[in-house]
Amino acid sequence: MSTKTPKPENAEPKNVATHQLIIIGSGPAGYTAAIYAARAGLNPLVLAGSVTAGGALMNTTEVENFPGFPEGIQGPELMDGLQQQAERFGAQVVFDDVTDVQLKGHLKRVVTGAGETHEAPAVILATGSAYKELGLPEEKKFSGHGVSWCATCDGFFFRDQDIIVVGGGDSAMEEATFLTRFGKTVTIVVRKGELRASRIMAQRAKDNPKISFAWHSAVSAIHGDGKVSGVTLKDTRTGETREQDATGIFVAIGHVPRTELVAGQVELDGEGYIRVDSPTTCTNLTGVFACGDAVDHRYRQAITAAGTGCAAALDAERYLAALDDADSIATALVEEPTHA
Ligand code: NDP
Repeated sequence: MSTKTPKPENAEPKNVATHQLIIIGSGPAGYTAAIYAARAGLNPLVLAGSVTAGGALMNTTEVENFPGFPEGIQGPELMDGLQQQAERFGAQVVFDDVTDVQLKGHLKRVVTGAGETHEAPAVILATGSAYKELGLPEEKKFSGHGVSWCATCDGFFFRDQDIIVVGGGDSAMEEATFLTRFGKTVTIVVRKGELRASRIMAQRAKDNPKISFAWHSAVSAIHGDGKVSGVTLKDTRTGETREQDATGIFVAIGHVPRTELVAGQVELDGEGYIRVDSPTTCTNLTGVFACGDAVDHRYRQAITAAGTGCAAALDAERYLAALDDADSIATALVEEPTHA
């Protein structure tokens, strides 16, 4: 019979590191929050993620519209710069995933994949968003075998091949234009008869002789034996289907917020984005702030994410200053009790 004493359910972890501020996420929002918080002397801990560190811009090529870079800048270079800027002022960046959070109560607790536990009175959530999937059963099966969500990561493998890009937004236009460097042909599959992309990005794709459009079309099945060889396209108006050969399928249909970790604690909207008390970055929990693409459905730009990251750091700084003031008053009252 085992004599092992059962571990109490709420046993305290042994090594708990305490900080003033923890920032979860390392895209433009997380790193901008870190720069501001570090300059304010808060020595924030940035939990940057393991494989997702740097956020979506790590998978982008040229960023042409981030102010201050008239010739454009490569996404990874921009993110390296933001990281270095945060570290220069004292942010501690750790490349690990967060596996658990307890955000209620005065001290928030965050556990990492390495099993480390961190506590702080303030947390900024800057967890960003993830690629949206088509939801086809074959999509996962062929992931890495012809189906991809990242042209800059995988485009090289499709030299002289027929490629399909799904989506009608800026991401799809950008991916398709980039993929013409490698592919023989690039077909953009759009479910409507018009694009959602900005005029400049749409025009660039339309002007590219290697790119053609399959309008009013949806990918209804992906075929192949071990790797992708083609798709079934369904007309979204008539339901008619047709087959198209392709060895590469790039899915660029938008993003979903990465908020699973905080669901059930922080209030989310119907689409899973974190609700904040706009124009502040305050969530429904005191001491918990949110910024970037995990909050924003509407703009989803690197610069708007960076802007809300700045706002979150300022909100957190004010919150912590108010806590300090409250502590000082309480201490003063204990040391010098007032006489009635
Ligand atoms: P968007 O949400 O703007 O566009 C998504 C596109 O995918 C839409 O055309 C949508 O169709 C389509 N779509 C969505 N779900 C499906 C589905 N299940 N099947 C088929 N098609 C689908 O996302 P993006 O990622 O393109 O852009 C996000 C934001 O990032 C935007 O603000 C954009 O401007 C910005 N961005 C800017 C870039 C740049 O400036 N360099 C580069 C990339 C993105 P429908 O229109 O019918 O809904």
